Amino acid sequence: MTAEPEVPGAPAHAAAPEPDGVTDGLMDKVVNLCKRRGFIFQSAEIYGGFRSTYDYGPLGVNMLRNVKNAWWRSMVQLRDDVVGIDAAILSPSSVWEASGHLRNFTDPLVECRQCHSRWRADKLTGPCPNCGSTDFTEARPFNLMFKTHAGPIEDEGAIAYLRPETAQGMFVNFANVLQTTRKRPPFGIAQIGKSFRNEITPQNFVFRTREFEQMEMEYFVPPDEGQKWHEYWINERYRWYLELGMPPDKMRLRPHGADELSHYSSATSDLEYLFPWGWDELEGIANRTDYDLRRHAEASGAHLDYFDPTTGERYYPHVIEPAGGVTRTMMAFLLAAYDEDEVGGEARTVLHLHHRLAPYQVAVLPLSKKEQLETMAREVLHQLQPHFMCDYDVTQSIGRRYRRHDEIGTPWCVTVDFDSLDDRAVTIRERDTTAQVRVPVDVLVAELRSRAGED
Ligand code: ATP
Repeated sequence: MTAEPEVPGAPAHAAAPEPDGVTDGLMDKVVNLCKRRGFIFQSAEIYGGFRSTYDYGPLGVNMLRNVKNAWWRSMVQLRDDVVGIDAAILSPSSVWEASGHLRNFTDPLVECRQCHSRWRADKLTGPCPNCGSTDFTEARPFNLMFKTHAGPIEDEGAIAYLRPETAQGMFVNFANVLQTTRKRPPFGIAQIGKSFRNEITPQNFVFRTREFEQMEMEYFVPPDEGQKWHEYWINERYRWYLELGMPPDKMRLRPHGADELSHYSSATSDLEYLFPWGWDELEGIANRTDYDLRRHAEASGAHLDYFDPTTGERYYPHVIEPAGGVTRTMMAFLLAAYDEDEVGGEARTVLHLHHRLAPYQVAVLPLSKKEQLETMAREVLHQLQPHFMCDYDVTQSIGRRYRRHDEIGTPWCVTVDFDSLDDRAVTIRERDTTAQVRVPVDVLVAELRSRAGED
């Protein structure tokens, strides 16, 4: 598995960060760690691998869930103005005809006349990344949607599409949600789920893949409040990344120029991360205006406007959309967390992941495999499991086990030793400082919950 499954030398959008020992080769180090420790595997690897498609292993699936849970918590659970849905991935042509995706959801495709490799013209910096030629065909629009047939007859009427964004699920259910929840603008509908784009040049590990997960929220507001809420959501979303430990100097906001706006957008700002190849998009926050609701109302005949009982007015709400990628965000958090330092003169690799994102929050480590110790360690494990995602690890020396958990970002190791059998206390070892404190088993859950800021 390499960092660049299809594209040798990804075109940089901006100067890549200066190598400093840790960032030097960072991408390869993180990609290797992901495979070695079970975060991310090449899909269908035993058959030679299915290009730019990935499977998430035992650690990766925990972390993906944590990214999604952190988003859902902030966007739905802690708010009274946002509700969730989970819409179908497979959808009929009518949805994509009305949304404009059939016509407009394209990237400019060029072919190198020398080596016949195909590229996305707007991401090329000059010569062909494959052979160095500058002789390309004229760019032509290439539609990114995956087309299939629903049912046993493969005729025109059976054409269906895998959704290229989750957003349309929120628009086509707008009236359903309005009626069933009695929400009124400003309010939002959030969704997390898989989307599919037949990307011309998937690249940079899980940064750009053909199958990926998105977390999107459509926030419906009175038409004259669009700009205000656009600014509000840019700030909210920026804060979310910082609260989860993204270094501020690795993040920036970049408003789109008029020439790069999507067909539905009046204004978009990207939250960007300084990836090893330069600044690139983590999340786009768009003002989609009333484009989608109007188009679906016209095409379907449904009433997708809002009647405001207080003013007696009918209007199509404008929509602010923060749209992020789960897989891309997970990768950025991994890159940001990766570090190499020394503990007691010994080199270690450590992921400084926020405890909400780490695959395991706690590792329970009996000092040895002695039955008495294991019995107590399992008791401790069972006490912790309802509150934290835990690992239980008995193999190899305790130092080795600490290193292993540093490398996968486990914030707390709990060690059960022979004294524990007498004093009913255990040692909590903290990942970042390696500091150790002795804590009675009775207060262990409370102590760790308080460290996690849970109470
Ligand atoms: P790009 O310009 O990089 O192709 P986009 O601007 O088309 O991306 P959006 O349509 O705004 O992307 O999608 C919202 C988010 O979904 C992106 O910010 C990204 O995090 C995620 N995303 C989009 N396409 C992909 C992909 N092919 N692989 C992984 N994540 C993706």
